[in-house]
Amino acid sequence: MKKVVKFGGSSLASAEQFKKVKNIITAEKERRFVIPSAPGKRYSRDVKVTDMLYRCYHAAERGKDFSEKLKEIQKRYQEIIDGLGLKLSLKDEFTVINENFKKKVGEDYAASRGEYLNGIILAEYIGYEFIDAAEVVHFTAAGSLDAGKTSAALSERLSGAEHAVVPGFYGSNAAGEIVTFSRGGSDITGSLVAAAIQADLYENWTDVSGFLVADPRIVEDPQVIETITYRELRELAYMGATVLHEDAIFPVRKAGIPINIRNTNAPKDKGTLIVEGTCRKSKYTITGIAGKEGFASITVEKAMMNAEVGFGRKLLKVFEDNGISFEHMPSGIDTMTIFVQQDGFEEKEQKVLAEIHREVEPDHIELEADLSLIAIVGRGMRATRGTAARIFSALAHAHVNVKMIDQGSSELNIIVGVRNHDFKNAVNAIYDIFVTTQL
Ligand code: ASP
Repeated sequence: MKKVVKFGGSSLASAEQFKKVKNIITAEKERRFVIPSAPGKRYSRDVKVTDMLYRCYHAAERGKDFSEKLKEIQKRYQEIIDGLGLKLSLKDEFTVINENFKKKVGEDYAASRGEYLNGIILAEYIGYEFIDAAEVVHFTAAGSLDAGKTSAALSERLSGAEHAVVPGFYGSNAAGEIVTFSRGGSDITGSLVAAAIQADLYENWTDVSGFLVADPRIVEDPQVIETITYRELRELAYMGATVLHEDAIFPVRKAGIPINIRNTNAPKDKGTLIVEGTCRKSKYTITGIAGKEGFASITVEKAMMNAEVGFGRKLLKVFEDNGISFEHMPSGIDTMTIFVQQDGFEEKEQKVLAEIHREVEPDHIELEADLSLIAIVGRGMRATRGTAARIFSALAHAHVNVKMIDQGSSELNIIVGVRNHDFKNAVNAIYDIFVTTQL
């Protein structure tokens, strides 16, 4: 059995955290390949090393003195080394970094040093081999991942290693330049390594005990989801629930490897298992609730719309021509409503309205702003009667007026649209009925 374990920034923010990480790794001999992030925040107002590196490099790029900023970064690492009682010195590494910053070798190089240095320390501390991600994670000249080359390089290099630390977040291109993923990209490295070595499990260690049924900023102390499918996760993530980088899903999903989200600060908690499919029923009828504020709706009315072939296409083409993606499109006999994100829509609003008039000659157009969409997601819904009834009675009791309802054809979700000012109340009402009272 082989496990790939990835630790996020807060799990490796200090010597104290490093000690917890070592305990976790040594607790199971299957935990053979470790992907570290750069040191994250030690307390809520702290600054992540990645951000310190970006700032330092930007000063270097502008020709300003960056020595103090670099010293601060070195200090963060030195504190970890001293706290762990290691003999390791990063002096030479910082000399090279200093030179490269002066040469302005690139922002990606700068940011990647966070993971690189943390990887060196972690490898030394736990006695694993250090493998520079620049050797095994490959990018194209255009800056996107070269998946084929990466998979081949990783499986070749790692098949000869019993234990290794591979820093997350970066790799290199054919010209030898360092390239990073987008922020939070160490999750992707972990997933690539897991897929390449055909791991049995990809453990992603963070600072929460898994994926939560609802957003803790809205619902007080929500329950953890024990098992979730990739499809459910996608629905919830699309609606704003995040634990993992989106691009981290694909490589492991394709290889049939489950992901286990775990908490470095509570290693006994089982966390959330993300799987392709499962016979396990979720504890509650629903798996999770997520939602977003800030939508607008455009309702187009025209008598006999139902008989006009091509009406929908013409209407949607207006949005397409303006580069606006639509979220939902509930329709009636003579009406069609398009839900869009308010932000991007507002500036194009009048142009879009004029074009709708030209294209479909409606009788009337009505706009509504400040709407929220809430997704209630659950694989259990298909086989359960009365889910929708429970949602709507909960919302009615909470005095929430439902503006839109959309049940996805997969019966995996029900989306409801409400006013922004009802958003939190609505999420709490739905959580209460399914999770707290379990009616
Ligand atoms: N250190 C990088 C960031 O802060 C990547 C990561 O942590 O996954 O975005």
